[in-house]
Amino acid sequence: MKLLPAALLCLPLAAASQSPVDSSFTDGPYIFFDSNQVVAKWVSGGTLFTDTLSPGESLQLDPGVSHSFDPSCVDLEDPFVAHPRISFKGVKKLAALSDIHGQYILMLKLLRAHGVIDAEGDWAFGEGHLVVLGDVFDRGDEVVDILWLIHKLEKQAEDANGRVHYLLGNHEVMNLKNDLRYVNKKYRTTTSLTRIPYNVLFGPETYFGRWIRSKPVSVTINDMVFVHGGLSETCLNLGLSLEQMNTAFQKQILDMPEEEILADPALKILYSEVGPIWYRGYFEEGFTKKRARDILRFLGKKHIVIGHTPAPQVRGLYGSKIFAIDSSIQLGEDGELFWYEEGKFFRGSLSGEKIKLQ
Ligand code: CA
Repeated sequence: MKLLPAALLCLPLAAASQSPVDSSFTDGPYIFFDSNQVVAKWVSGGTLFTDTLSPGESLQLDPGVSHSFDPSCVDLEDPFVAHPRISFKGVKKLAALSDIHGQYILMLKLLRAHGVIDAEGDWAFGEGHLVVLGDVFDRGDEVVDILWLIHKLEKQAEDANGRVHYLLGNHEVMNLKNDLRYVNKKYRTTTSLTRIPYNVLFGPETYFGRWIRSKPVSVTINDMVFVHGGLSETCLNLGLSLEQMNTAFQKQILDMPEEEILADPALKILYSEVGPIWYRGYFEEGFTKKRARDILRFLGKKHIVIGHTPAPQVRGLYGSKIFAIDSSIQLGEDGELFWYEEGKFFRGSLSGEKIKLQ
């Protein structure tokens, strides 16, 4: 495969000490802010490549390295605003999917089937909004492809007056906090080749790390609240606004030692199983339509859209007050989108069919 000129300048740096890596192995790129310079690393053909980028230079890769990396969407000067707008009104069409867990191909098929992206994988949803409701990380082996796809779509959507919202799930938080129990073994090969610990690949001095650390745990769109696990009464009783919860994750929880989180009563709740990224209470016996109604009244909204707890299909609970949209994409076989259009709610299948949710 023909290399682009910039890639020709890069030196392969495969370390001699490691075991041979499959010659089809590719991963990356990962971009690091290393004091005054920007360094990109990727693996192609089982070999590690490193390139130092001069100011204004964009990273050009052999197209075989990444399915979704688009250098024109990377802005190395972008500080990634840590308090992005989290409330949107007047959105006419929206697609959401959750718990993709490294299943890039399935994500592409779903988005294509519903015209969110085109055949080339570029934004085709105009002023629509796409919500990625957390848990891109872990289990599957196409996590980095998904991250670069979301990143590209984010830029392309903004250019079209649309929007992509990537929310933190518990697996984003686990990965940033170095809880690596569910990391696919592919990324252990990458850490071995790069000799960079996994958490440093997504650390605060990386492009991915800064980008993900700017993401919220919750956004509101029209009369819907989106959050990965759910909002419990215990969590809401903290009296924090959604914006304050987002800030607590971005500024404290993501990079604070666990013992400090647990020593702070409010952070401890946000980080716990009744916090927004782990909560499963809507599925427990004893949860009622009245409780859903009370939570929504407190929030001043009509629907909560959640992922985190898988089922074969997107479904409405408690008279569609809650939409549970983790459709088991993580299994890599099938999956659905949640679809909103002009006040109506649908589940969207892999074949492009839209079935109205009651
Ligand atoms: Ca989850």
